[in-house]
Amino acid sequence: MTGMNDFVELGNRPSSPQIAIVGAGPSGLFAAQSLRRLLAHAAIDVFDRLPVPFGLIRYGVAPDHQGIKATARQFERLFERENVQFLGNVQVGRDLSIEELKDLYDVVVLAAGLAGDRRLGIPGETLPGVFTAGALTRWLNAHPDEAGLLPRLGSHVLIIGNGNVALDVARLLLKTPEELCGSDLHPDCVAHLKSENVREVEIIGRGAPGNARFDPAMVKQLAALETVHISVACQEAPDADANPCVAALRAIDGHGNPESPRKLRFRFSLSPVSIAGKSHVSGACFAIGDRVETIDATSVVTAIGFAPDENVPVGLTRGACSEVVGHDLARVYTAGWFGRGPRGTIAENRLDARAVAETIAAQFADGQIRPEGRRGRDGALTLLHDRAVRPVDYHGWLRIRAAEDAARTDDLARLKISDWKALLALAQSPHLVDVQT
Ligand SMILES: Cc1cc2nc3c(=O)[nH]c(=O)nc-3n(C[C@H](O)[C@H](O)[C@H](O)COP(=O)(O)OP(=O)(O)OC[C@H]3O[C@@H](n4cnc5c(N)ncnc54)[C@H](O)[C@@H]3O)c2cc1C
Repeated sequence: MTGMNDFVELGNRPSSPQIAIVGAGPSGLFAAQSLRRLLAHAAIDVFDRLPVPFGLIRYGVAPDHQGIKATARQFERLFERENVQFLGNVQVGRDLSIEELKDLYDVVVLAAGLAGDRRLGIPGETLPGVFTAGALTRWLNAHPDEAGLLPRLGSHVLIIGNGNVALDVARLLLKTPEELCGSDLHPDCVAHLKSENVREVEIIGRGAPGNARFDPAMVKQLAALETVHISVACQEAPDADANPCVAALRAIDGHGNPESPRKLRFRFSLSPVSIAGKSHVSGACFAIGDRVETIDATSVVTAIGFAPDENVPVGLTRGACSEVVGHDLARVYTAGWFGRGPRGTIAENRLDARAVAETIAAQFADGQIRPEGRRGRDGALTLLHDRAVRPVDYHGWLRIRAAEDAARTDDLARLKISDWKALLALAQSPHLVDVQT
């Protein structure tokens, strides 16, 4: 049986440090790994608003990058053997406040990521047919918040932005169903993309190719798009090839059959000034020097980076540069994207999380933080119970995972469940699936 009692029974010594981590993405879990190593007797609870762990590994990393998704497996040991507790389906800032966590725990680590999309701030940005890369990649990853999105993309998509997320979106929109085999892109998404029949994608950057933030390895991967012709409007001087990104763009230029109706174009030094259209997007207008060019399109995707998520406030105010302001931050720490901004790969969060854990351990060691018999998990569960919030524990996640894995086929790595109610029903109904840990 799993439920509230399982959490309580695991119990903790009152004298052991009580640590709450907010966010079960890579940063929170890297922090938990380091804290477990440094503070063997600490009670470590990882809260997440979702009933599933792993943050953007599950809901950001592209469905056709299964090798990267598999990095989540390194965290299983924490929950299975190292007595770190997962408390999913608990939204901090709504179900529990940071002040309450501070009362209950000796230390609170905020690792809640930054899931909001940066906005272009130009006219027309809210027209139907404009999609943010965050929403689109969550839909492609079966995130329960985006289950109803069904993006009407049409045949010609402009992607504004010059980072890896723009490449992910372009690649996924242009892959054929056969090329998506082996991914965990939901069959409904595959069918929807097929019916949208995207034929042309243009990736448009404000800066020059030398300033693009594409990972050259991801540019090279585009060569796997067998039915797509790729062109790169690269105006850089020949010696710019010393820049690996420029070299990769030049190498991919001309890939595929020029007669193919399916095209991917890279264009640079186009500064977006407005989204065109009256009741729906019809294109976007860009400044090139002192003239303005309109590029027609059936939809526009903005992929210019991430920001605090206004829909899921953690309960802290942020300043103009995303820094946390106006709060008593004693015994509160930040890690990962939440702390240092939306930059960097999964692995890059490890160092940052380790540094946070080392600071916390040092502060326990020199008495700056003292375990004061705070109630920790028992207190949190009591508050949640009083508020009719049912947390999902690690076994609940395993039931979801088992159901998703059971529906795996040769072509589909897992059948992800995107419906909130179905996720919670599986997680909270122990008898539905028999799971071995
Ligand atoms: C579309 C996309 C694709 C990417 N692809 C790659 C890739 O291929 N390879 C790579 O190395 N990196 C990739 N990255 C970057 C990588 O995902 C990040 O470096 C990493 O996930 C950041 O980790 P994090 O733990 O700080 O944040 P997240 O992964 O965002 O985790 C934050 C967690 O906090 C939870 N949370 C948020 N608010 C609350 C709240 N109020 N209460 C409780 N919980 C909350 C969220 O549900 C989430 O689980 C990609 C990023 C994106 C956006």
